[in-house]
Amino acid sequence: MAVALPSFLTAIMIMSRLMAFIGITRNNDMSSKLQALDIAPKLSYDPSAIESASQDFGHIVKAVPQAVLLPSSPWDIASLVNFSYSNSVPFSIAARGNSHSVNGQAMAKNGVVIDMTSMKNGNGTGIRIASDGSYADVGGQQFWIDVLNATLGLGLTPVSWTDYLYLTVGGTLSNAGISGQTFRYGPQISNVYEIDVITGIADFVTCSPNNNSDLFYAALGGLGQFGIITRARIPLEPAPKRVKWVRMLYTDFSDFTRDQELLISKNGRNDNKALNYLEGSLLLDQGSLDNWRSSFFPPQDQPKIISLITKFRIVYCLEIVKHYDGQTKTTVDKDLQQLLKGLSYLPGFMFEKDAKYEEFLNRVHSEELKLKAKGLWDVPHPWLNLFIPKSKISDFNDGVFKSIVLQRNITTGPVLVYPMNRKKWDDRMSAVIPDEEIFYTVGLLQSSGFDDWRTFEDQNKEILQFCEKAGIKVKQYLPHYTTKEGWVNHFGSKWSTFQKRKLQFDPKLLLSPGQRIFNNNQ
Ligand code: FAD
Repeated sequence: MAVALPSFLTAIMIMSRLMAFIGITRNNDMSSKLQALDIAPKLSYDPSAIESASQDFGHIVKAVPQAVLLPSSPWDIASLVNFSYSNSVPFSIAARGNSHSVNGQAMAKNGVVIDMTSMKNGNGTGIRIASDGSYADVGGQQFWIDVLNATLGLGLTPVSWTDYLYLTVGGTLSNAGISGQTFRYGPQISNVYEIDVITGIADFVTCSPNNNSDLFYAALGGLGQFGIITRARIPLEPAPKRVKWVRMLYTDFSDFTRDQELLISKNGRNDNKALNYLEGSLLLDQGSLDNWRSSFFPPQDQPKIISLITKFRIVYCLEIVKHYDGQTKTTVDKDLQQLLKGLSYLPGFMFEKDAKYEEFLNRVHSEELKLKAKGLWDVPHPWLNLFIPKSKISDFNDGVFKSIVLQRNITTGPVLVYPMNRKKWDDRMSAVIPDEEIFYTVGLLQSSGFDDWRTFEDQNKEILQFCEKAGIKVKQYLPHYTTKEGWVNHFGSKWSTFQKRKLQFDPKLLLSPGQRIFNNNQ
């Protein structure tokens, strides 16, 4: 569908041009007004605070704010938003979780960045677990690792995760929050009972599917466009103690995807016989055994894996996990064998580990520490994350993995490929996924040097162009577009609702300008 609200679009274009112009002229005026606010002592102009709010995990985009708010409660945030909203010259505001975006999404050029993590030490919502253990109320600023530690202390756990846990609750709920649990439990946005949101008109709203539902569905997957999430109520379940963690290798892509799809077809939330986690990845020549997913394989098996990769150039790795505890300890192996019966992985290429539940969930952190020690963590990350309809995943393998990726031969870092079930997502939310019942996520999570990230961005562009030409209707996850047309295409039939919600909840276009949806001047 084309643009449904032309007058609104025109208003938005005028507003964003005006804000760009005003941004140049207003700086001094705004600073002096900010000094007069109650929250003035919590605004930092310190060069190091400004510098870190101008960067993110991507190390590609830079946008300098005027100030950084270090709130100690949601009221400080509401006060800032209210001030900007009521000001004759409004300024943009970006919540910054852990700034693990890769394209400047948590930045606010000439505006104010809110360092959400400063609320960890204040009197905002921390992590409160309901007395009956059915849910946790969690501040939007909390890292998922903190949620894990707090809930495990009571033998409880959320069920839907991301691969990496040093991300904030507000940050992942603004995207979707996906991992190997998504096929069964849905993304993190499908696992929220209620949220508190401070909108772009400084309203402080509690919302859920039954209460202010429009804002609830808008904010989940809403890329920070409708409000700042200050609390989320997350369902909890009894935590397992340990996991059986298995990786199997394939050289044939259709065997690999057939087995993945077979395994995710058993996906009942309460089906104790189903897997708890399923992902997949590519093992490539250039250092695949030396990235943040690598330490799994036993050292004595690495030579045979490397020679397999040398021979086939791409090896596909299916990864699964089954939870267990004291009660299921004696049956877990049998259940796993039952699930793996008839799969087509290469004989002799199945590897198994037994790990504590929290060790498995926090698996990326140990690799992060190793990369940090080598100076390989805080480097540019020209990532591309896509959702691909199942019907085209084989074309994607031929045209992207076997052609572009092998020809360019530059890909370093993990390349993830795994399927999920559409029915576990809620289409009323802002997150965008393909139309087919099963779709794959592909993540090219590349690291580069500071002087060659453009080569990787060129590869990303080539991949997107290939998909367009081949009629593969991909959707970007953690989307990044530089044109209005890009966003309109991305949202497709959801665009008019997205615009209407923006008009309703953030009519002055204050929030998360670094997404560049309504503020292309950022
Ligand atoms: P930020 O980057 O700080 O913010 C992201 C966006 O959300 C910005 O627009 C910001 O303004 C907005 N925002 C932040 N906080 C709030 C809030 N409280 N309310 C409203 N808006 C807010 N994602 C997955 O889904 N699965 C993964 O397995 C996964 N693994 C990752 C591994 C690594 C190493 C990294 C770097 C990223 C990974 N991601 C993954 C991506 C990650 O979920 C997103 O980049 C997410 O936005 C990062 O969270 P953050 O807290 O750093 O958010």
